[in-house]
Amino acid sequence: MIDRATVDRILDTAAIADVIGGFVSLRRRGGNFVACCPFHNEKTPSFSVSPSKGIFKCFGCGKSGNVVTFIMEHEHLSYTEALKFLARKYGIEVHEKEETAEEIAQRQRNESLWAVSEFAAQFFAETLFNDPMSRSVGLTYLRDNRGFSEQTIQKFGLGFAPSGNQLTEKALAAGYKAEYLTGAGLAIERNNNTLADRFYERVIFPIHSLSGRVIAFGGRTLRTDKSLAKYVNSPETEIYKKSHSLYGLFQAKNAISRLDKCYLVEGYTDVISFHQAGIENVVASSGTSLTSGQIRLIKRFTNKVTVLYDGDAAGIKASIRGIDMLLEEGMEIKVALFPDGDDPDSFARKHTAEEIENFLHNSEQDFISFKYDLLSAEMAKDPMRRAEFIHEIIRTISLIPDQIARTVYAEECANRLGMKQDILTNGINKARKQYVESGLYQQKQAQQQAQEPVSQPTWDLVPHLPAEQPTRKAASARLQPPPIMEPIEKEILYYLIRFGENILHFEEEQKYNAEQPVQRITVAEYIAAELTNDGLELITPLFKQVYDLYYEIQKEGLTDQNRIQHRLINWNDPEITKLITNLITEEYTITIKEYNKALIPEENVLGTVVPKVILIFKAKFVDHTYQSVMKELAQAQSAGDEARQQELLTNIRILMQMRREFSNELNRL
Ligand SMILES: [Zn+2]
Repeated sequence: MIDRATVDRILDTAAIADVIGGFVSLRRRGGNFVACCPFHNEKTPSFSVSPSKGIFKCFGCGKSGNVVTFIMEHEHLSYTEALKFLARKYGIEVHEKEETAEEIAQRQRNESLWAVSEFAAQFFAETLFNDPMSRSVGLTYLRDNRGFSEQTIQKFGLGFAPSGNQLTEKALAAGYKAEYLTGAGLAIERNNNTLADRFYERVIFPIHSLSGRVIAFGGRTLRTDKSLAKYVNSPETEIYKKSHSLYGLFQAKNAISRLDKCYLVEGYTDVISFHQAGIENVVASSGTSLTSGQIRLIKRFTNKVTVLYDGDAAGIKASIRGIDMLLEEGMEIKVALFPDGDDPDSFARKHTAEEIENFLHNSEQDFISFKYDLLSAEMAKDPMRRAEFIHEIIRTISLIPDQIARTVYAEECANRLGMKQDILTNGINKARKQYVESGLYQQKQAQQQAQEPVSQPTWDLVPHLPAEQPTRKAASARLQPPPIMEPIEKEILYYLIRFGENILHFEEEQKYNAEQPVQRITVAEYIAAELTNDGLELITPLFKQVYDLYYEIQKEGLTDQNRIQHRLINWNDPEITKLITNLITEEYTITIKEYNKALIPEENVLGTVVPKVILIFKAKFVDHTYQSVMKELAQAQSAGDEARQQELLTNIRILMQMRREFSNELNRL
């Protein structure tokens, strides 16, 4: 965990306009900056950055936060990772809690493996451009045969591995240890204890981690010699887990999340050609069948995947299992087939981005219909297989976790098959039941739970640290806040955070006691007094935490509204940052709308609005208590506990009385 002093240093140094300006082009508008939002697609800018408040807000999609949450969202990093990202950018040394000796050793070892992989990537790239032999073979192939521009080659860090053991020799000479060369899968130990390059005479495709570090390589031979494997890939290493990495994801992640869609292709060159054509939301499974780890990587950015195939039937059949897995994970799957003789790579080279997008848009179909078409073509040849076919479709639909989606597909397939929908639905329900009961489902759930908090995909960075706010998380898991309380509690916070230090002017006082000095009470004081007098607290854990924080900060002697806001925005917790930035940028309050319609500044009506908000809160609180007492009464009745029943009935009478009083008072207001 990063210590508070370091967090403060980072927040003090990282200017929000400077950081965000590194990702989107900001234009000045008054004291703020505007841009087209990097989180959703738009033509007119609704994304705004306020350097004075240190926050950003998109009025289109609602994303808001401070400099750290921006990096979290934009670079898809955890809170700690985002802080480290900023620390690196501004050259701030990060102090962390003490690591164990074992952790330190592992971290240092990983650093060494990354370093030597980075060295290799540079060596391969330089060789491609500078070594005459490599140039004439490798660069000619990439440029002329593949049609990659120099910019594209650089974007993906493509290179060439020359003959012999040049990499190993260079790396050893540069001081890299032999154990890291073999550990990173770059060199192989021969029987006589000497090292040999794993990659030689091959075009090199570096594989990046989610955060952009080189972790592995794919090497393609340019020889036509059939005895040579077309591709040689890095083995699994401490820094490279095949089942948890996808080729191109580092280069694609922002486009995937912006467009809320991911194209899945097979090979390195498919990805690269798409990028060059201007379509960037594409990744490759690199020939292996899809793993659930890879699917979850995609799921971090989108639920929508379109699988792209060349028209070859054998390939399609092989990968259908992978698609079933995507369905199981609750992804929305579409499939697009390329015309005969074309694969994504060749198609992309012949067409513009617009043509490709049009083609994909028109030819993609949902996976169930795709499978239906595929199987029904087979069935046409062999009508005896109809039953088998129906079972296959039923099995596939039963994998979809969402009940509504299952029903929709059942309906569609029933129509196409010309059979009654309930027969199909019954079959699907039965298959679903079997699937859930088979333990496969539970296994999956358990796997998911076991894997979720572990940051496998970014394991080259620090693991996510859910332990940062243990109290609230534990509390919120125990105590489900009733949803009826949330909006009004949020509104109390709204007035506290925005106007807490304003003086409340009550209309009545101004009217009747014009001569006498007005009692000066701030909004924050009023709210605290009202709640404490009645022994009430906010119920929603996050809101309660922020409420308490406000008064804590105040106790330190801070009474300037802007400075209190600033402290809260930069509290060491992204959830609080998001809540506060939302509250101070929200344009409308939730419950009391009529005051916003009038063109009176909100500050001027606080004396009327705040008491009303507090009253509504109390009324809802009583409602909430009433409901739970009623539930308890029902329990006491069925248990036959007479004494308890009497007690509860007394409570209920008091609560009903309170309800009446509150509603009278609310009517009066
Ligand atoms: Zn937006």
